[in-house]
Amino acid sequence: MSAKARFDAIQSVVTRKAQGTLQEKRPQSAHFGEQTFSLQEAQRRLPKDVFKKLRETVLGGAPLDPAIAPAVAHGLKEWALERGATHFTHLFQPMTGITAEKHDSFLSYEGDGLIERFGGRELVQGEPDASSFPSGGLRATFEARGYTAWDPTTSPFLVKHPNGATLTIPSAFVSYTGESLDEKTPMLRSQEAISSAAMRLLRLTGRSDVKRVTCTMGPEQEYFLVDRAFFALRPDLVACGRTVFGAPPPKGQELEDQYFGAIKDRILAVMSEVEHEAIGLGIPVKTRHNEVAPAQYECAPIFEVVNRAADHNLLILELFRRIAPKHGLAFLDHEKPFAGINGSGKHNNWSMATDGGENLLEPGTTPIKNTQFLLFLAATIRAVFKHGGLLRSSVASAGNDHRLGANEAPPAIMSVFIGDELQGIFEQIGRGSGAHNDKRGTIDLAVSAIPAISKDTTDRNRTSPFAFTGNKFEFRAVGSSQNISWPNTIINTIVAESIDYVADRLEAELKAGLSVGDAAAKILPGLVAEVSPVVFNGNNYDEAWHREAERRGLANDRDTPAALRHLVSEPSLALFERYKVLNRKEAESRYTVRLENYCKRVAIEAKVAVEMARTGVLPAAFSYLGRLAPLKDVPAAGEAFTEVSKLANSVAQGIKALEAALGATHHVSNVVEEADAFRAKVLPAMLDLRASVDALEVRVDDDLWPYPKYREMLFMV
Ligand code: ADP
Ligand code: MG
Repeated sequence: MSAKARFDAIQSVVTRKAQGTLQEKRPQSAHFGEQTFSLQEAQRRLPKDVFKKLRETVLGGAPLDPAIAPAVAHGLKEWALERGATHFTHLFQPMTGITAEKHDSFLSYEGDGLIERFGGRELVQGEPDASSFPSGGLRATFEARGYTAWDPTTSPFLVKHPNGATLTIPSAFVSYTGESLDEKTPMLRSQEAISSAAMRLLRLTGRSDVKRVTCTMGPEQEYFLVDRAFFALRPDLVACGRTVFGAPPPKGQELEDQYFGAIKDRILAVMSEVEHEAIGLGIPVKTRHNEVAPAQYECAPIFEVVNRAADHNLLILELFRRIAPKHGLAFLDHEKPFAGINGSGKHNNWSMATDGGENLLEPGTTPIKNTQFLLFLAATIRAVFKHGGLLRSSVASAGNDHRLGANEAPPAIMSVFIGDELQGIFEQIGRGSGAHNDKRGTIDLAVSAIPAISKDTTDRNRTSPFAFTGNKFEFRAVGSSQNISWPNTIINTIVAESIDYVADRLEAELKAGLSVGDAAAKILPGLVAEVSPVVFNGNNYDEAWHREAERRGLANDRDTPAALRHLVSEPSLALFERYKVLNRKEAESRYTVRLENYCKRVAIEAKVAVEMARTGVLPAAFSYLGRLAPLKDVPAAGEAFTEVSKLANSVAQGIKALEAALGATHHVSNVVEEADAFRAKVLPAMLDLRASVDALEVRVDDDLWPYPKYREMLFMV
């Protein structure tokens, strides 16, 4: 064993230079969306009546008229061929967390020769077979056929590569029997659910101008960039995206000098190239900065309709994966690549908006707008109160388990932060209108406006999993590697149900003859009282809160197997059915897929840990012992020899224990038990092994340690 490869990697890192790759001189707005077949592009290329129908589908969510598909496909093909495309693909989101694509060329025999052809059917539906994707038992391989279907609400786009381009069609993925096999389909269904519930409530309050409600989403993406030379020497990073070993560096994040620090040139080169590509794809990327942990960064777009935001977030991740290596860097989207420093999440900024662009969570400036705001706000909070467990389950994964509950991310307890101002308003409402003796004065819902909630006062609490930040909610528990479609499917669905609940109550009062204002004033105190157990404005990291939350009856599911149970609880299954988001079979299959994913990920980590410990760590320890052996008479060397041989023995025992734990996961009768074995046996055994390995790392001769250390990976760029 020697550290030669490690030292060579350090050498290559210190000699690397930032690479300028962009020639772009135009402002971003000038090339925004130029790689997409946008509505403007469609208008230029399609017959008037075809365009009109397509526009209705894209903007209004009307189903695509099959009669226009051939014309749309033709226009699209011409557009793509002019830009050098040779192939097309339906891009879909199987339950793997990432996207999938299968490319076909446009070529087709026509008479005696080959020509480029792209028919309406090929645009609208693909048949990738794709029998190897996880389906949680929904598909046996003999009926494995899966179909992809164009989601016309997001534009087709071109993905350029060094030798050409591919026309890419964002798609849903369903089985032969119509069951959803992907993340997009339930998301689109949940959009329908919340739109009709919200429309119903709006109509009750006298709003007849709104035709559609959509959810808006701005996901703030955190990630790490480390040098590829280091990455390549870490089997754990290569196989699992996280380090299973690594002693804490002398300097971590305690100086807080990384957060919002000056961005290094090599990093900026990656960021700007990703952003340039993203802008071309019509992704409104806006913010970039250094995050709290060393080597950690953030990328945030301007918010969009949630299904587009989800597509775009997946594309951003793909761009980073593709572009970072060109700059000699590895992109890590794992929730916890390095122990002891912050992990990465994805802050999901979520709200609801009308087709006219009105944000339904914007505090009003008139009494009627206030009423509307308070009703939607109360409904959203109630959703978290009623279905906190399900919401928690939507972000459960092996990776995110390292994050939720540590003092860097919101805990596994789902609560809502509303801030002092709204808290005051809630308390007044709770006392009933007309109450006073409050220094803030009294709010008479029927006549007065709620003052605009200033962002400054609401955004201070960074410890809350679900925080109201002025005119939207920020769900902070989402993992950095996750497809945001799923957590947003859950938010949409649980909020839809609570909006209906509020609408039921309002409707009853209206039927009894009350005005909208009076009816709202009558039901709000009850609503506020009902949801108050889930409202918490304090420090969510505080142990006292964990006890208090238990007293309030809020769930605290600390790990994935525990959290996922909520996905298939009776209330959840009934909810999915009622809102036509998932049928029981689909929900159960998702439960299985997610549990399997958990098991597989932990298994990979455990196997990598065993291999690294056996083939890298122990040999380094033995070499060092060999160096020390002749010097045993020197007291310091003798002491080191004893210490290192003890630790080497614990590593050897740790390997055996971990292998035994892994073996035990085979003796189970179903995936629920299997996941439990990984949680209860494998993960603790990995931690035990890690403790001895990390102790060895800081004792073995640096000249022998084969794996790049935290102090190198995190600080050398
Ligand atoms: P921060 O949370 O860091 O203070 P901002 O609040 O400005 O930053 O924005 C964070 C994200 O929230 C951005 O992606 C922004 O586009 C998004 N956002 C702002 N308003 C809304 C909204 N109404 N719905 C969804 N996302 C929104
Ligand atoms: Mg934020």
